[in-house]
Amino acid sequence: MVVFLRGCNFKCTYCQNYRIWGASQPNNSNALLREIKRNKDYISAIVFSGGEPTLHLNLLQFLAQTAKKEGLLVGMETNGSFPEVLTTLIADQLLDGLFVDIKAPLSNPQKYAQIVGAGKANTCIIKIKRTVDIGREALAAHKLQEFELRTTLFKGLFSPDEVIEMVNTFKTIPYALQQGRTEMFAQTDLTMLTRDEIAKLAVQCRRPLRIRTLEKGDEGIA
Ligand code: SF4
Repeated sequence: MVVFLRGCNFKCTYCQNYRIWGASQPNNSNALLREIKRNKDYISAIVFSGGEPTLHLNLLQFLAQTAKKEGLLVGMETNGSFPEVLTTLIADQLLDGLFVDIKAPLSNPQKYAQIVGAGKANTCIIKIKRTVDIGREALAAHKLQEFELRTTLFKGLFSPDEVIEMVNTFKTIPYALQQGRTEMFAQTDLTMLTRDEIAKLAVQCRRPLRIRTLEKGDEGIA
């Protein structure tokens, strides 16, 4: 079960969930609680997504505690801006899986800021690096079951060298290249890469990766 929490500190050019950017109030916790309980016999995990779910620490704690009591695993998809929230959740044993977006090469704060629409590029990069460190350390200490970095690709958004750099900055961490989709977002000047184009980029990275595309779903590329 994926729970999309409202509000985001980024404004990515390709965001599919831009309709929930602006909401200042968190989702109705009682309604979410009812949904979790109603579905618990049919699901194995809850994944918080958004928007940026880590904007809502209290709500996350409440829902994750509920999920844990129901015997469910808890995952988080995040843009990495709030590492302190992840530290708290991991310390409280409320997180099993962490999935972090890498939106651009971390060596290029200007490009990162341009893609995510955030002003303070260097601060943003520092936070994301801290988030990656937290995930790496928690995985090594068996405090997380799963940790993955992800980059969404569109035609012309990154050069092959930039993709290789992103992926190989974190050589030991599982990484997925995702096919950006254009049918659901506001801005239309980006175009999709095909599965074969993404697979070719993955091979160029010379390390095991996952790719996710409409054509073939989730695949491992050795
Ligand atoms: S971080 Fe995610 S939810 Fe926020 S703007 Fe970017 S793509 Fe959208």
